[in-house]
Amino acid sequence: MAQRNPSLSALGEFGFIDRVKKQAKSTLTSAVIKGIGDDTAVCRYSTQEHLLLTTDMHVEGVHFQKGMGGEKIGWKALACNISDIAAMGGVPKYALISIGMPSSAHTDFIHNLYKGIQKAARCFNVAIVGGDTVRDSKIVVNVALTGLVAKKHLVLRDGARKGDQIFVTGSLGNSLKRGKHLNFMPRVEEAHYLVKKYKPTAMIDISDGLIADLYHILEESGVGARIEENNIRKAPGATLEQAFYDGEDFELLFTVKKRDAQRLLKTSQPFSFIHIGEITDKKKTCVCVMKNGQEKKLQRRGYTHF
Ligand code: ADP
Ligand code: MG
Repeated sequence: MAQRNPSLSALGEFGFIDRVKKQAKSTLTSAVIKGIGDDTAVCRYSTQEHLLLTTDMHVEGVHFQKGMGGEKIGWKALACNISDIAAMGGVPKYALISIGMPSSAHTDFIHNLYKGIQKAARCFNVAIVGGDTVRDSKIVVNVALTGLVAKKHLVLRDGARKGDQIFVTGSLGNSLKRGKHLNFMPRVEEAHYLVKKYKPTAMIDISDGLIADLYHILEESGVGARIEENNIRKAPGATLEQAFYDGEDFELLFTVKKRDAQRLLKTSQPFSFIHIGEITDKKKTCVCVMKNGQEKKLQRRGYTHF
């Protein structure tokens, strides 16, 4: 009995999602190209493009405190969905905003929350087309976002192969303390540049932490990784441990074929692309070559809800 009904803390966030994925399987149709298990779902749309769908929820006391300011929380609520669309190589399109709040909630806070959402929407050409409003014991914001991606530009998590080179778009770690998690720019432009010029073989945005999100690529692609301590760019004030395991940097983590990597590294780039390592055939194993030359196996851990 206990085994059939483990608590959420025993199952973990990803164990729970795996269960849901199995249950959802019977609902899928041939129009669904990718269901649960990537940054967004991917569905058939037109001869040229696929439809992308994603959603993210932010709960007072878990993801934010009111003292952080409504506008910043609003920006983040939409921006992290935009970041997921970018990680597929897509363009964000239409958003639905749902809010739960107690009757005692200050209208100022909610007004500012919307100001932040609107700011991100205008910045990335997203149209806010609806949502829902309900009473709740605390403030909850849920954003659902659609996007479009040219079929030839779609990048999933499952395409990394041995020899592919691993890159990230920026420095990592300490995002919560630095406030970056509230004011980051989703890497939409970088993603477009990459899909047009270098066709990444796999891509994800770093929300759970570099190593946790790298493991998502390794698992989906059935490969391993070797990264180099010397190549990891730590954000100001961040330790190596934080660069590895802190979440919410919302940088892109991607892989490209070796010859594309050589081209990427030789050419001057309009964006920062940091080469951190390469894909190996040691399935679901990530090692780091430390400064002293020794290899260290990196455990799979990062932020999870349960
Ligand atoms: P991300 O960090 O990129 O936003 P998540 O870790 O939140 O992605 O989710 C991983 C995958 O699991 C996604 O495909 C997401 O749609 C799916 N997922 C998460 N929670 C649920 C749920 N309660 N029901 C169905 N699918 C879910
Ligand atoms: Mg993501």
